[in-house]
Amino acid sequence: MDDALLVELKSHIGVCIGPVHAWDRVNHPMIRQWREAIDIEQQPPQEQNEAPATMLPVWLMAGLGGQPAPGSDLRDHRAIMKVLEREGFCGILGTNCEQEYERRLILGERISSTYEVESVSDRKQTRFGPGYFITFLQSFHDETKALVGSMRLRILRYRPDTLTKMERRPPPPQPAMNQDTSFFWEGLKQGKLLIQRCTGCGQLRHPPGPACTQCQSLEWDTLEAQGQGEIYSFVIVHKPIFEGFEAPHPIGLIALDEGIRLVAPLLAAERERLTIGSRVHAVFETPDSYHRMPIFHLSAEN
Ligand code: ZN
Repeated sequence: MDDALLVELKSHIGVCIGPVHAWDRVNHPMIRQWREAIDIEQQPPQEQNEAPATMLPVWLMAGLGGQPAPGSDLRDHRAIMKVLEREGFCGILGTNCEQEYERRLILGERISSTYEVESVSDRKQTRFGPGYFITFLQSFHDETKALVGSMRLRILRYRPDTLTKMERRPPPPQPAMNQDTSFFWEGLKQGKLLIQRCTGCGQLRHPPGPACTQCQSLEWDTLEAQGQGEIYSFVIVHKPIFEGFEAPHPIGLIALDEGIRLVAPLLAAERERLTIGSRVHAVFETPDSYHRMPIFHLSAEN
């Protein structure tokens, strides 16, 4: 079923705008500079009087000022783009361009072109966001109005879906912090996995706590873990689905090489391949990501 915007877009199909005249006659300086710009060899002698076929649209370029040459149809041949921009479809991607040539252009002739919207797709859901594929047809004519070539340009005009899947999710609960644990969460913000270390006996402990269970010292500092370890155990959570998480998601008990164990998420995409004993390494999400937890990925050495 057509949406209202699609009906409006389709009303532009087949409306022919033109002629729009080339600013300049086919000339040698432009050919030379065009060849130089796209780094192709200079013209062989037998083609000295001809323009390269692929240069066809160049003759109709409006130039920096954007003004059409005198005598041109001044209607906007890209009016359909304004409609799309008005509706927020401001992203643009060229998808393909086809040129057809009827004959080579000869030095000294002056061409013109007409423009029309040839087709508009239904609204498509693309990975960039929802959008429409628009095909423009530009037809080129010589001074006798004979067709010398044509160009079909297909573009995707889309409404950028700038929010990632993660951002669209409701935020999950934030960790509860206190004076014993805040160093851990602050470290994660900076991409550091910090482990509490007793300065009395050197024992590492996790989760963090106020006193050493071995020597009862209240003094501690931190050690930055390398983020390497192995899966000591894991579960895959299917239910309950906590707000802000997508099930199924794996949670691991990771035995870090430093000698402590840590509960942390494992990469959901790898959940089918997880086994106890697999080597894993921590990958930190961007600093402001919601959970501020390293996600453990399977290491290449497995
Ligand atoms: Zn201790």
